[in-house]
Amino acid sequence: MEDNVEVDVHDLQSLFSSTQRDYLIRNNGDQIAISTLNGKKLGLYFSASWCPPCQRFTPNLVDIYNELVVKGDFEIIFVSADEDEESFTGYFSKMPWLAVPFSDSQTREALDKCFKVNGIPHLVFLDENGKLLSDRGVEIIGEYGSEGYPFTSERVKELKDQEEEAKKNQSLRSILESPSRDFIVKANGNKVPITELEGKIVGLYFVLSTFKKSSDFTSTLVKVYNELKAKESNFEIVMIPLDDNEEAFQKELDSAPWFSLPFKDKKCEKLVRYFELSTLPTLVIIGPDGKTLHPNVADAIEEHGANAYPFTPDKFSELEKIEKARQEAQTLESVLVSGDLDFVVGKDGIKIPVSDLVGKHILLYFSAHWCPPCRAFTPKLVETYNEIKSKHDEFEVIFISSDRDQASYEEYYATMPWLALPYNDKRKQSLSRIFKVNGIPLLVALGPTGKTITTETRGLIMLHGAEAFPFTDERLSEIEAGFAEMAKGWVDKVKSDLHEDHELVLTRSQVYTCDGCDKEGKIWAYNCEECNFDLHPECALKEDKGKPNEGWVCDGEDATGTQVLIPVNGGMIELYISKQVTRDQQMIDTLMEKFNIFSKHIEQMKTEGSPNCSNPWSENSSLVSAGSTHVSPTQSIDKPTNLLGYAISEQPKEHTKSMQKIGKYHYQSKNLVIERKRRDRIREGLFALRASVPKISKV
Ligand SMILES: [Zn+2]
Ligand SMILES: [Zn+2]
Repeated sequence: MEDNVEVDVHDLQSLFSSTQRDYLIRNNGDQIAISTLNGKKLGLYFSASWCPPCQRFTPNLVDIYNELVVKGDFEIIFVSADEDEESFTGYFSKMPWLAVPFSDSQTREALDKCFKVNGIPHLVFLDENGKLLSDRGVEIIGEYGSEGYPFTSERVKELKDQEEEAKKNQSLRSILESPSRDFIVKANGNKVPITELEGKIVGLYFVLSTFKKSSDFTSTLVKVYNELKAKESNFEIVMIPLDDNEEAFQKELDSAPWFSLPFKDKKCEKLVRYFELSTLPTLVIIGPDGKTLHPNVADAIEEHGANAYPFTPDKFSELEKIEKARQEAQTLESVLVSGDLDFVVGKDGIKIPVSDLVGKHILLYFSAHWCPPCRAFTPKLVETYNEIKSKHDEFEVIFISSDRDQASYEEYYATMPWLALPYNDKRKQSLSRIFKVNGIPLLVALGPTGKTITTETRGLIMLHGAEAFPFTDERLSEIEAGFAEMAKGWVDKVKSDLHEDHELVLTRSQVYTCDGCDKEGKIWAYNCEECNFDLHPECALKEDKGKPNEGWVCDGEDATGTQVLIPVNGGMIELYISKQVTRDQQMIDTLMEKFNIFSKHIEQMKTEGSPNCSNPWSENSSLVSAGSTHVSPTQSIDKPTNLLGYAISEQPKEHTKSMQKIGKYHYQSKNLVIERKRRDRIREGLFALRASVPKISKV
C-alpha cells in the first residue's frame, strides 16, 4: 500500500524554489518571493496549452480566481506541462496568477511527481499551512465554482449536503431561481416570474441547438406543445439552453413557443449536474407539486406524441399496455407493408412480395457501410446465415440500409447473400420507430407469426453463431443447459497460484479477459468477485488432470456485448454488457466538450471508425478503442480513484442493475505479474469492468 505513504504537509520553499531561485513569476516578468505565499491557501494548477480540456478549463479558473483573489489569502501557481517556452509564455499570458518558470523543468517534474499528476488539467489545493486539502480541484471547481472555497473536505461535504437537502425540498423555484434572478424569459425578451408556473406540469427541456438530435426533437416537441396548449392543458416548458453561441441560442428561442432560462445562466450547468443529464434531448417533467415526475420523457414523446401527457406513472403503464397490444398484433405484413410498398428486393433486383415471406423466420438487419462495427459484423452474419439456411429453408434476412448514397448501398449489399429493402425506401423510418433503432448494427428477429422474438439477435449470434437459431428463450435455455453440461466435472471452487488471496469460483460469464494468459474468454470463468479477477477454466485448473477442452476460447475473436464508456478520474472505464446499448460517440464528445465533467483529458476516443458514424458500437474485443490520459513520462501510476459514476450512455432498459456496480474498485492482488499487467491497463486508462457482466454462479 505504498500509495498511503505520502507527506501531506508541504514546505513551500522546498516545493517551489531551486538552488538558484527563491521566487515565482508573473506573466509580466515580475518575480514574487515564495515567502509571500506563507499563510495563503494555494491552488497548484497543472496544465498545458496543447490540451483542449485545459484550454476549456483555464478561463473558468480565471473567473473564479478573480472572484477569490480579492480575499487576499488565495493564490494559484501554474505548473506547466507545455512543450516549449513559447507555448508556455502564450498560455501563461492569459493567467492572472503565478507560475514556476518554464526553464526550471526540474522543479516542475518534482511537483508532478510529488502530487502524482497522471493527467491534466489537474488542480491541487493546499491550505494556509501547506497541508494537502484536495487533489480533485478540477472537479470541485467544475461542480461548485467559487462556492467551493476554501476547498476543504468539510466545505465540499457541506455543499453536497445542501444539494441533497435541496433535492429533498425540491420546488419549481428551487430548481429555476438563482439568488439574482426570479424570472425566466420569452423569445421577445419579456421576463416572466417563475411563480407564474407554479402548480403546472413543467417540462425542463435541455437543448444544445447545434446538436442535430436536439434540433430534430425540438420540431416534434413544438407540435406536441401546441397540441397540448390547444387543449388548454396545465403544461408549460422551460428551455435549459446549453449553447455557447448566443446567436444559436436566440434562433432556438425564437422558434420556440415556450420559456427559457437566460443565455449562459449559471443555473444551466448546475441543472445538468442536478438532473444527471446523460443524453440529449432530455425533457425532465416536474409535477404540479414541484417534484420530479419523470427524468426524461423525450423517448415517450417521440413515440406517443401528446398522448404521453401528463407523464404520470399511470399514463406510462397505459401506454405500455397499448404497445404490448400492438406487439401482440404484429405481423410481418404489418411491419413491412406500407401502401404500394409491399415487396422487398432480391439479389438480382427482382421484387419479392412480402406475402411470400409470411411464415418464415425473418431477421431485419439495420446496417450501413459507413459504420465500421456494421462492416465488422456482416461477415459473421453471412457465415451464420449460410449455416442456418443450409438446415432451415424457412429463414431469411432483410437488409435495411442506412447508407447515404446508392453506390455505397450497392457496394455493401453486394457482400450480402440475402434480401433487402430498396435504397432510401421510406419504410425504413417506420421500422426504425417500431424497433426503436437508435444504433446500428441492429439485428431484429421475427418469428413465423411476425412477432418480435428479440432485438438482441446480434449479441446472440456473436456468442453462439448459428446455434442460437431460432433465437427464442427456449433455445437459449437449451444452450444454457449445454453449458451446464460442459462444466460437469469442474470443481466449483479452486485455489490458484495466480491469485493467492482468495478462492476462485466457477462462474457463468459472458466475455472476460483472463488474468492468467491475458486472452479473452467466455461462457465459464473462475472468478474472484472481490478482486474482479478471472481465469479461464483451463488456466485455473492447469495442475489438475482432466483438463477441460471446451467452454473457453483464448483467441479473442468473438467478443459480444456493447461498449459503454464511464469516465473516471484518469481515464475511461470500458464497460461490456451483454445488452446492446448504443454507444453514442457524438453524444459523449458533445457532453465532454460542453462540461468539464471529466477532470482529465481523454485523448482521441475514436475507434478506427469514421467520424460520421453517429451510433457506432465498438466491436473491438481488446481494450484499444478508448483513449488514454496524457501521462507524463516521469509519473508513477496511481490507482484509479474518484469514480464519478456518471455514465454517458443510454441505460439498457433491464440490466441497469448490472451497470450500477461500477462503484466497486477494490484491488489487492499480491501477484506481481498480474499486478503489473493490471497497472499497464490502468496506464492506458482502460478497464474491462468484468463485474458488470451478468454472471450466474454455478452452484
Ligand atoms: Zn487464460
Ligand atoms: Zn481475490
